[in-house]
Amino acid sequence: LAPVITIDGPSGSGKSVLSKSLSKYLKWFNLESGIIYRIFACLFLKKNGLISKNNLLSLLNDLDNYFIYKNGMIYNFITKEFSKKYIISKEVTNIASKLSTISYVRKNLLIKQRLFRKKPGLIANGRDMGTVVFPDAIIKIFLKATLKQRVYRRMYELKNKGFNINFKNILFQIQKRDNRDINRKYSPLKPANNAIIIDSSNMNCTEVFKLVIKYIKK
Ligand code: C5P
Repeated sequence: LAPVITIDGPSGSGKSVLSKSLSKYLKWFNLESGIIYRIFACLFLKKNGLISKNNLLSLLNDLDNYFIYKNGMIYNFITKEFSKKYIISKEVTNIASKLSTISYVRKNLLIKQRLFRKKPGLIANGRDMGTVVFPDAIIKIFLKATLKQRVYRRMYELKNKGFNINFKNILFQIQKRDNRDINRKYSPLKPANNAIIIDSSNMNCTEVFKLVIKYIKK
């Protein structure tokens, strides 16, 4: 099996930037697991779905059309149908967060996420990569940051995409998502037992990257 490095943490803790730079540096594949939940939410909204088990299971089947398979492994997602702006919109984000609390949805996606594991290796980021999806990862990072910092980071990201936003609004949304992530029954957000916990509140992305490289080289 190919080696995996996992990066978990709440929204705005810096997971995406870190995994992109690690995957570039190591020349490993990068799995942004949140985008799977987001595409699933886009599908749900497109079909104007009800939150019923039958409906969600059928949508999970449809989701397979949004992956590119090669030799039984998944190589990429097809996201062209939904714009990047729509994928990160408030509506999709909120539905993704809600659907991700449902155990059978998570269990179904677990299998698909594992199909991203390919040689030479995989960087996987999300909420439960080190605890549930890839418990045998060689290095597990758990990123955290103060709520205020995370709100500022999300605001910066959304502003760059042309959204009109305010601090209170984003704060409220992040808190709601944090609560759902932490309190769900199956695979709640928490550091794995053997995770390296990094508080990125007062660090920029380069500093976090350099620190993680030190752990990798150990
Ligand atoms: O990481 P991102 O914000 O794109 O994820 C969207 C939503 O999907 C999150 O609010 C989270 O609830 C959910 N998610 C999850 N488990 C993951 C990745 C994302 O529950 N591994």
